[in-house]
Amino acid sequence: MKRTKIVEALKSQAYQSAINVKGWVRTKRGSKGVAFIQLNDGSTIHDMQIVVDLEKLGEDSIKFVHTGACLSVDGKLIPSQGSGQSVEIQAESIEVLGAADPEKYPMQPKAHSMEFLRENAHFRPRTKTFSTVLRLRHGLAFAIHQFFHQKGFYYLHSPIITASDAEGAGEMFRVTTLDAKNPPLTETGEVDFSADFFGRQTNLTVSGQLEGEIGALAMGEVYTFGPTFRAENSNTARHLAEFWMIEPEMAFYELEDNMDLAQEFIQYLVRFALENYPDDLKFLDERLAKEESQKKAEERSEMGLVEKLRFVVENDFKRITYTEAIDILLSSNHHKKGKFQYEVKWGIDLQSEHERYLVEKHFKQPVILYNYPKNIKAFYMKQNENEEVGRETVRAMDVLFPGIGEIIGGSQREEILEKLEQRIKELNMPEESLWWYLDLRRFGSAPHSGFGLGFERLLMFVTGMSNIRDVIPFPRTPKSAEF
Ligand code: ATP
Ligand code: MG
Ligand code: MG
Ligand code: MG
Repeated sequence: MKRTKIVEALKSQAYQSAINVKGWVRTKRGSKGVAFIQLNDGSTIHDMQIVVDLEKLGEDSIKFVHTGACLSVDGKLIPSQGSGQSVEIQAESIEVLGAADPEKYPMQPKAHSMEFLRENAHFRPRTKTFSTVLRLRHGLAFAIHQFFHQKGFYYLHSPIITASDAEGAGEMFRVTTLDAKNPPLTETGEVDFSADFFGRQTNLTVSGQLEGEIGALAMGEVYTFGPTFRAENSNTARHLAEFWMIEPEMAFYELEDNMDLAQEFIQYLVRFALENYPDDLKFLDERLAKEESQKKAEERSEMGLVEKLRFVVENDFKRITYTEAIDILLSSNHHKKGKFQYEVKWGIDLQSEHERYLVEKHFKQPVILYNYPKNIKAFYMKQNENEEVGRETVRAMDVLFPGIGEIIGGSQREEILEKLEQRIKELNMPEESLWWYLDLRRFGSAPHSGFGLGFERLLMFVTGMSNIRDVIPFPRTPKSAEF
């Protein structure tokens, strides 16, 4: 018989019909000649209850049915009173496709700690929590393409191996075929990269932005969506060495248009999750509520997960300039009581404690900060005109979210050749490798803007997960790459 996915079977009204389901056993329990198996196949958060009449099928039919075993079950779909669903399956035959020795299988039908699950990443998708995260991850990846496709953006495949360092932050993973122990050297004793595979130094991309600009200044509106790599030394709950970034880049957009798009995009994705994954979100909501109830009263979040998601969809993000943000921080009681670890003054790169104060304590909602000091931002950002001496700013914006911090970084790009050349000189950057980037300003330049949304940061918000390692199937962090 052809397999029916449990998600479809649970929707079915055709009682008494013959059906086959396949999946993994979550639990088995028995009473007086009957066994009840909860079977899950990943297609939904819900399990299918399998009812086994032991007198009819014999005790041996469930001998190898333990948590984790893979089964194929033929039976009849019948109405259910006790399973929490409207239907269940009365088994006619049970085939164990793959047994799981209960003495050795590491996953138990109880709640495991997130650390334990990370150590067992190969079985993690079999848990309710993690399969829910993966379903949302899939759904939102699809929604991202749908959003841009509907708006007429083109999906541009930026390269994974690249010779450019968009951020200049020196967090690149080198790509080389040279022998690390014995590389060819130049006459002056340096590594001779001309002998390397590409004839020059290359690295894994830290951002597809610069290449995205090539697309925007030809096709109008484009976006990239792919893996991004940063050799982040810090071991935080918000940084991965390999993460996915969505980077739209648009010709003829000024900073304000860029901020409008960022808000519209996030609201679209959150609404998509609410509309298409209500059962998964309900599960996560309850899970989070349990977690919150264990916290001290003053640390507890005031809103539930679904409530938070709705709030984001229904309200405009607050927009304030960097300068206004500094003023808010300086006049806060938090500052006056000396509670910030890092000094607050105009010109600093805001630390996560400052960002969190703004979004979690002061505004209690998503905030877009814009017009940052020129000296703390990347070379390509458009400089503001007519500014106070010593307070020069660029048309940058960061979108900050409660509980997470930065989820988007973006800017209007400098499109004037002379200004960009001057900035590259000031920063002592190697102009040779940016010849093509400057060419985009030399020939047919146009105002343009874009931003990068960290996919995992968005997923943290939508799922309520507090560690970024728990929203990606195979997390890559310092000293950790199991597969
Ligand atoms: P952060 O300040 O959090 O280190 P960033 O300013 O270095 O981030 P950008 O270069 O602005 O990051 O990248 C755009 C977006 O990519 C960020 O807003 C964030 O959502 C995401 N991002 C950046 N670095 C990481 C990382 N190591 N792991 C996961 N997401 C990241
Ligand atoms: Mg960073
Ligand atoms: Mg940042
Ligand atoms: Mg940033």
